[in-house]
Amino acid sequence: MKNYIFLGPPGSGKGTQAKLLAEKISAFYFGTGDLMREEAKIGTEFGKKFQAVWDKGEGALVSDDIIEEFIETKLKGLDINRPVVFDGFPRTLGQAHLLEKYIKSEDLEVFNIEVSSQSLIERATTRRVCGKCGKIFFRADLSGIKQCDVCGGNLGKRQEDAPEIVKKRIAVYESQTAPLIEYYKTKEILIDIDGEPPIEEVTQEIESKING
Ligand code: AMP
Repeated sequence: MKNYIFLGPPGSGKGTQAKLLAEKISAFYFGTGDLMREEAKIGTEFGKKFQAVWDKGEGALVSDDIIEEFIETKLKGLDINRPVVFDGFPRTLGQAHLLEKYIKSEDLEVFNIEVSSQSLIERATTRRVCGKCGKIFFRADLSGIKQCDVCGGNLGKRQEDAPEIVKKRIAVYESQTAPLIEYYKTKEILIDIDGEPPIEEVTQEIESKING
């Protein structure tokens, strides 16, 4: 049984594609950022630590020791009979090693969603997220959408989507997460995906790679 990892810089659409794939193959969607925001919203001890990092406004990752403790509680609870689609984890080499304690690399496929820096900044700054169900809306300010078409929740900006933070997050991605591309390439489980075309086309490319 294959499990899937989505790699890609902030604004690459990896979250959207990860959710679509999970739905398509009836996999468990492991949305790291969503899980973390949920903790912060409820105000758990983990959530307070995450929020403290986000409040600094530097687009930094939460440190590996904190995130690994948190992720391990989630990995232990996974249903081993169901494939998992990981979005936002692993994000460092240390996290990739942690994952291998639970899922062997031969049971993994990694989609690397490639998008130019210019597109990334434009996408992130026009992105809105439903405050209720978490659905992401690209170019929401241009299309004038204010409410979620799934649950009716209000759309808002994520704290970390502000332009100055986005640039920092891209830099963090380049230095801490991009090394995973080489790491998974060496393991021959990396699949490059052009993330520039519209959502439906990217989805098709991903599905064709799975089926192929
Ligand atoms: P995301 O919604 O996936 O872009 O995540 C939002 C923020 O949560 C990131 O900017 C990080 O501060 C934190 N975060 C999410 N996933 C991880 C991870 N795997 N490791 C460390 N920090 C993370």
